[in-house]
Amino acid sequence: MLILFNKPYGVLCQFTDSEGRPTLADFIRRKGVYAAGRLDRDTEGLLLLTDDGALAHRLTDPRHKQEKTYLVQVEGKPSEAALDALRRGVVLNDGPTRPARVRTLDGEPDWLWPRDPPVRFRRHIPTAWLELTISEGRNRQVRRMTAAVGLPTLRLVRIRVGEHELGDLAPGEQQVAVHDRAGKP
Ligand code: URA
Repeated sequence: MLILFNKPYGVLCQFTDSEGRPTLADFIRRKGVYAAGRLDRDTEGLLLLTDDGALAHRLTDPRHKQEKTYLVQVEGKPSEAALDALRRGVVLNDGPTRPARVRTLDGEPDWLWPRDPPVRFRRHIPTAWLELTISEGRNRQVRRMTAAVGLPTLRLVRIRVGEHELGDLAPGEQQVAVHDRAGKP
């Protein structure tokens, strides 16, 4: 079984927490499923969960180079040079990233839910929205990539993993996905 879940901001990608913070257990009642891949506590959006080890492997093994697409609100005004640097791949402290696909959006997508709590807003600093697609999954990779080109990430929302899309799932909602043996919808 494969579950698509819209992970809210502030929820840990695990089922228990010794500090009592919100976890997946507050939302996912099915027994035996676990997250295939992860999102940071401060990242929102699509998380896949499964009880199928082979499927989890296909979805997370770096050799399968699953594409992941994110909406990213950044601080600053992206220059063409910054976008080109992301497209070429940037050098992080754990090595160069593979090239990313990136485009600027015309402001915040109108279907996107407001973040709870809101992003800290600084009146004199512009923000911009990017759609960024990567095919790796290193620790805090998107945040580190945008920071490396001078665009700190303010808000991060994953909207696609491989061929699975967030669709119209609201934060905290989940849906059992229909898929084939390779995990494709
Ligand atoms: N990149 C990040 O920086 N954080 C995530 O949660 C996912 C990708």
